[in-house]
Amino acid sequence: MLKEKGLLFDVTMCVGCGSCYKACKEQNKLPQTNKDFLKDHLSENTYTVVEQYGDNYARKLCMHCDEPSCASVCPVGAFKKSDTGAVLYDGDKCIGCRYCMQACPHKVPRYEWEKTQPRVRKCTLCHDRVKAGKLTACAEACPTEATLFGNMDDLIAVAKKRLKENPGKYYQHIYGLEEAGGGHVLILSPVPFEQLGYTAKLPKESMPSLTMKAMEKIPPVVAVGGVFLTGMYWLTKRKNEIAREEKKSNKGIKV
Ligand code: SF4
Ligand code: SF4
Ligand code: SF4
Repeated sequence: MLKEKGLLFDVTMCVGCGSCYKACKEQNKLPQTNKDFLKDHLSENTYTVVEQYGDNYARKLCMHCDEPSCASVCPVGAFKKSDTGAVLYDGDKCIGCRYCMQACPHKVPRYEWEKTQPRVRKCTLCHDRVKAGKLTACAEACPTEATLFGNMDDLIAVAKKRLKENPGKYYQHIYGLEEAGGGHVLILSPVPFEQLGYTAKLPKESMPSLTMKAMEKIPPVVAVGGVFLTGMYWLTKRKNEIAREEKKSNKGIKV
């Protein structure tokens, strides 16, 4: 069985060269979105960014949560956790409700607002490459090994060793190991994580398990309302699709 994989990003080793950002764009055939990569933002065309905070550089990308909120709120199961550890999205199932965008504790998923058949976009943890036995494109491109790809067990061991052997160099915490239930992207930093724009003070428990606890206290009539709303979203999407199809078939016909 394939061991679950992930990334370890070490802020103290990152020189802000942007090779990871460029490799991700190339790998996913994404267009250039900003001439200065340090000023770019996560978007439907940018799955990872490198942000500058004084002398430090911080990567942002999907954390590939162990119990992903995006998957738990999706009414049609468009997100799933794969055997590599990646959280993957299936655009064919998506009904465009965008609950995933609201539910993600790391504010990661982005939407193709401009497209007629919009999809949600985010990092895939280079699933196809990993399945083929390769590193993620961002880890392969990183010249300093600030972005390291490997088995989760190994990455956790490396992160713990670095913290133990260099107590003065690191803020003593592995971000991503327990935040919102933990995931497959771990981060080490010389300063508290909120200073680098990471969402701090997330509960250790995953959002889905917190939601389940809250749901247990909601009367059944409200839960039924949720199902009704899902149905409404489905119908609205279908209505839009039909309208688009009708528009297409009327194209060129002069009345
Ligand atoms: S970081 Fe957000 S988008 Fe990525 S797996 Fe977790 S909940 Fe889903
Ligand atoms: S793992 Fe792949 S998709 Fe994700 S940021 Fe790295 S290169 Fe991009
Ligand atoms: S390639 Fe490595 S050193 Fe360069 S910006 Fe990305 S993580 Fe930092």
